[in-house]
Parts: sequence; C-alpha cells; structure tokens
Amino acid sequence: MTLQQTIAEYLKYTGQKGLDISAALIDCDGVLYDSMKYHTQAWVKLMKKNGIKCTRDEFYELEGMTGSEIIKMKFKTGAGKNITDDEAKALYGVKTRYFHELGEAPVMPGAKRVLEALKDHNIERVLVTGSQQDSLLERIEKDFPGLFGEAKVTGHDVRKGKPNPEPFLKGMNKAEKKANQCLVIENAPLGVQAAHAAGCFTIGVTTGPIPEKDLYKAGADLVYKNMDELAAALPSLLVALSMIKA
Ligand code: CA
Repeated sequence: MTLQQTIAEYLKYTGQKGLDISAALIDCDGVLYDSMKYHTQAWVKLMKKNGIKCTRDEFYELEGMTGSEIIKMKFKTGAGKNITDDEAKALYGVKTRYFHELGEAPVMPGAKRVLEALKDHNIERVLVTGSQQDSLLERIEKDFPGLFGEAKVTGHDVRKGKPNPEPFLKGMNKAEKKANQCLVIENAPLGVQAAHAAGCFTIGVTTGPIPEKDLYKAGADLVYKNMDELAAALPSLLVALSMIKA
C-alpha cells in the first residue's frame, strides 16, 4: 500500500475529512526505553514466587495494561484469587523492586532522533504511558532534555489501561488536540489497539518479539522495524500527513 492509500484508508475508517498532525502521543516502555525485557523478567519472577505459571511472552502480549490490571487478571486466572486494590498495589511494589534489581534499562536506539525530528517539524511531544514506575518517568527529562513538554499521561492518571482508549484520549485532552491532529507511536498490540480506538493515526514499531503483522492486525496504520527506521522516514511522512487539511 502506498502512503497515500494508507492515509485514504485512515480517513475512511475514522470518517475524518482531513489530517493535520501537530502532536505526537508517545509511549514509553519499548519505544523510549529498551525496558520490556526487564519488565517481562520481573513479571515472571513475581508470578513464579506466587505459584502462578506463566511465560515471558504472555507479558509482551499484556503490555500496555496497568500493573494492577495485570496482577488482578493473572492471580484470578492463574490461582483463582481475587486481589484487592491494596494487595495489587503491594504486589506491584514487589514487581517494581525486581525490575530495579535488573539494572537501568537502556535508552532505545533511535528514540532521541525520533523526538528531535518531531521537534524540528513543530510537532508537540506528549508522553502517554500506563507505567507507574516513577524512576523511569524521572529519567525522561535527563535522557531526553527539552524534548517533552508539560503535558503527559502516566499510569497514575488513568483508570483504565490500554487497550482502552482512555490514556490516549487523556493525552489528546491535555495537549488540547483532536484525534486527526495526533499521531501515536506504540510498540505493543494493546497500545496500538488503544490508539486506533482513540482515532489517532497510529504508528507501530516492532522493537520486541511481537511481529509486524500483529501490530497491523491491532490497527496500526503504519509499522516500522525500529525507532531508527521511523526517524529516517519521519520528515517525508510528516509532510504527507500535513497535506490533507479538512
Ligand atoms: Ca510500550
């Protein structure tokens, strides 16, 4: 499919008359940081300690849900236990400790280039993540100085994690943008689903084990192999995405 056809498809299924991208809603884990391998390892350790069978791959599939949603679901299906909010919070604290014990997750190669390309084209950058991991959120200003504005959505702001569109709808709201003014950068199927449901132009990046076809199936408009490939494509992509005014 050509880029023109991709854009035509987007306009058709959203019912939008035009596209006028002026903000990018950007996911954190697996997009800005190569942190998913640590998260999945920490999740498996938490589950095994509680006698719940699981594989790391499952947690790549669940990426985007809030920590407490994952805990409640896995304890219910894996051990028949109903977990209260307080218990979920405590268990998430344990998972966070395991995550930290694995060391600092590296910055994703190409992430800075993507943010700089967006800034060069006057596209506002808004962080939208289900993460409640404050240490990672605090690192962002240090690792990407001046590349994010005040507007951001974290796991502390949302009631429903991805695939619910709430995180992206909140991001749009905070940036005072409409769906056809926002593109989303996501690596996880549930994140892509959420962005698609919010009506944003959705870009997937396959930075983990999830194949390209799964991101398209979840509703991605475009999928790139990694953040470097996206950074290289952005200048011409942003021109194309700003040419269809309503
Ligand atoms: Ca992610």
